[in-house]
Amino acid sequence: MGAAARFARISGMSTLPTNGSVLPITRWGEDVMHRLNKPVTEFGDELHRLVADMVATMNAAEGVGLAANQVGVDLQLFVFDCPDKDGNRVQGVVCNPVIELPEGKDRQLDEGEEGCLSLPGAFTKCARPDWARVTGVDENGEPVSYEGSGLLARCLQHETDHTQGTVFGDRLSRKYRKRLFAEAEELAPDYPADWPVSPVLNQEEHTDEGLNA
Ligand SMILES: [Zn+2]
Repeated sequence: MGAAARFARISGMSTLPTNGSVLPITRWGEDVMHRLNKPVTEFGDELHRLVADMVATMNAAEGVGLAANQVGVDLQLFVFDCPDKDGNRVQGVVCNPVIELPEGKDRQLDEGEEGCLSLPGAFTKCARPDWARVTGVDENGEPVSYEGSGLLARCLQHETDHTQGTVFGDRLSRKYRKRLFAEAEELAPDYPADWPVSPVLNQEEHTDEGLNA
């Protein structure tokens, strides 16, 4: 993993649930990844279990964010555990996210490296606004708001995109998308179909960096 994601793992206690089970990660191409997901309306035990399982899955995959459709569930929901631009660990659960991005002269694009746990192993530069704010509700239906720049801004945008059925490949030029798919295809044999339930093979060859979510 990249240094940023590793830092997120070790700095301080997690406030996210820790009692979940690791689930297989759904890949690009599955229908649930490419359509608008359903809003969360029930905030009971079933949702709490799903959130715990998503956190366990994100951690097993060494990602900094994970959306519900990445474990095959058609709900507008994501979890994240990601450093902001100062290296501070920010964690949360967001249902029904709404994103706010800078406009006009405040809109600066950042060309950071980005990867997706649903197209594991492949990374490419992806231009996105360098700041974002997401509002929504947590797993108990309480209002939440997260904002930041750096990797956190990228993470919040990447995850909100997932809930809307957009993957970051949709935001790339044809040339970059082609390159991304070629890299993913090359690495595919290292990712068992139920990854991260079964671990990645040839771990030492996967020296990714940037966002992994
Ligand atoms: Zn992703």
